[in-house]
Amino acid sequence: AKQRGKGNWVRYTPGMDRPVFADAQLGGDLRRALDAGEFRLLYQPIVRLADRRLIGVEALVRWHHPERGLVPPLAFIPAAERTGLIVPLGRFVLRETCRQAAAWLAEFGTGALQKASPNVSVRQLHDPDFVDDVRAALADSGLPPDRLVLELTESAVLRGPRVSQVLHEVHGLGVRLALDDFGTGESSLSLLRAFPVAMVKLDKSFVDGIELGEPGTVETDARQAVARAVGHLADALRLETVAEGIENEDQVRQLRRLGYTVGQGYHLGRPMEAAQITALLAEQAKA
Ligand code: C2E
Ligand code: CA
Ligand code: CA
Ligand code: CA
Repeated sequence: AKQRGKGNWVRYTPGMDRPVFADAQLGGDLRRALDAGEFRLLYQPIVRLADRRLIGVEALVRWHHPERGLVPPLAFIPAAERTGLIVPLGRFVLRETCRQAAAWLAEFGTGALQKASPNVSVRQLHDPDFVDDVRAALADSGLPPDRLVLELTESAVLRGPRVSQVLHEVHGLGVRLALDDFGTGESSLSLLRAFPVAMVKLDKSFVDGIELGEPGTVETDARQAVARAVGHLADALRLETVAEGIENEDQVRQLRRLGYTVGQGYHLGRPMEAAQITALLAEQAKA
């Protein structure tokens, strides 16, 4: 037996120590959950820093499990990738994001929301149907391709002719690609050259603490150096940037000083229900 909490003894079962779900259990559960419609998307605002205008959203999946309640993505995405269930799940995320973005476009017009970004796992890129899935999601929703931005985690974008070809085909559809968590991977720079990337998202780890320290000190300069370097690189390569994980106004100020114009983070808007994004767009349309 093993002690859990204070005075609560539970019998040890194999796999109990593993994070949240064992793969085998998860496989069946995910399949069932997909069919049961337990996955939902939240949307986090991507905003123009100068005036806080909502210009895009990132789609973030949530699992409303009947017994476990709300399950965050980090508790099931890795296992979904290992079991391959990320493929049907990712297809749902892609289709739902396109459907919702097209609905916002129809309601608020072309000037309101420029882009919607689902996350795409590398496992999906290896699925032979991926490009067809993207094409179908666009066609079925009526969303213009340039309003879809696929977020790829750079460390997950493996090299190899297959992935490269898929990304070029997706690019050929007019869809844009963003490198997520930029700066944390091992081969950021070569990826920028190898793939048709339109956007980089400066990782939260470089935003954390960027506002700290006395201006002009070595410590402050070091914290800001990466953000500044990524900004220069993006300018040189004509890439858009989004600074991620912004949690306070001082970070906004600092990032703007370093040339960033677009950001995302709890300070600018938490991941929220589609209806709340709709309300923000309605407010913005009135202003
Ligand atoms: P990510 O793509 O880097 O997404 C950003 C994560 O940071 C989200 O967590 C978001 O809620 C959180 N975040 C945003 N602003 C802030 C902030 O100011 N402070 C802090 N502390 N956190 C912030 P979430 O929704 O839990 O997603 C975690 C990761 O799960 C995502 O990281 C992404 O890698 C993955 N993920 C989420 N949805 C999907 C999906 O539909 N498909 C795939 N393949 N992966 C997904
Ligand atoms: Ca992302
Ligand atoms: Ca990210
Ligand atoms: Ca991340």
